[in-house]
Amino acid sequence: MTAPLLVATDLDGTLLDSVSYSWAPARDAVAALRARRVPLVLCSSKTRAEMEPLSRDLGLAGPMIVENGGAFVMPAESGGAVHVLGARHADLVTALAEIAAEAGARVRGFSSLSAPQIARLSGLSLEAAERARRREYDEPFVLDTPEALPRIVELAERRELRVTHGGRFHHLTGRGDKGLALREWLRLAAHEGRAFATVGLGDAANDEPLLHAVDRPILVPRPGGAVDPGLAAAFPDAERAPAPGPVGWNAAVLAVLAGERLAQA
Ligand SMILES: [Mg+2]
Repeated sequence: MTAPLLVATDLDGTLLDSVSYSWAPARDAVAALRARRVPLVLCSSKTRAEMEPLSRDLGLAGPMIVENGGAFVMPAESGGAVHVLGARHADLVTALAEIAAEAGARVRGFSSLSAPQIARLSGLSLEAAERARRREYDEPFVLDTPEALPRIVELAERRELRVTHGGRFHHLTGRGDKGLALREWLRLAAHEGRAFATVGLGDAANDEPLLHAVDRPILVPRPGGAVDPGLAAAFPDAERAPAPGPVGWNAAVLAVLAGERLAQA
């Protein structure tokens, strides 16, 4: 007997449209997964506060991997247990202050900024800035002395932390990623006698660890129709969804459920 199926998916640009953030075009495949009781694991850089309403909308009871693997969280309806893999936010705030002092750098962490200040810096709406501020495993920061970056990275690594750059802000995080979080959840499930055949869907570089952690990676094209070049190079033999975003997601998941294979390039 083959193991039951599990689908793990990125959100923005994959299950969610990159402009409207809607999953409506994937409605048929989401319903088909639910009807067959196939677990759908959401894996995103979004915060728990951002993901919980979506999980509820999708009618899911399974775990969510939040903040790029900082933790996996069971929905409130399923007990709300949290398994932390990254570093806790309070520890990151303390570490950032120490690192900045040691490096002689001037930094402004999100937790020292008000929502209106974050909205001004990021271009987010005030409401979105408020939700983005509620990070539990990541401290985004503005670096006012850019020449100090190499030293900051070094001091972070010494503390087993990581500094990444995402557009306008730097981020201080623990060592988790989406793939480590998924592997850890699968390990715990296997411990309870539940083993799965895993399918993963993603569209961007931060999905690479997730796609490595599954049996069957599926690459979802970007809005222009091309697959992210880094992902294409990392997974030359992987199947590809036939269209970007939730339209491609829907077709790919329905094909998986029908026992079909997708084209590889
Ligand atoms: Mg994405």
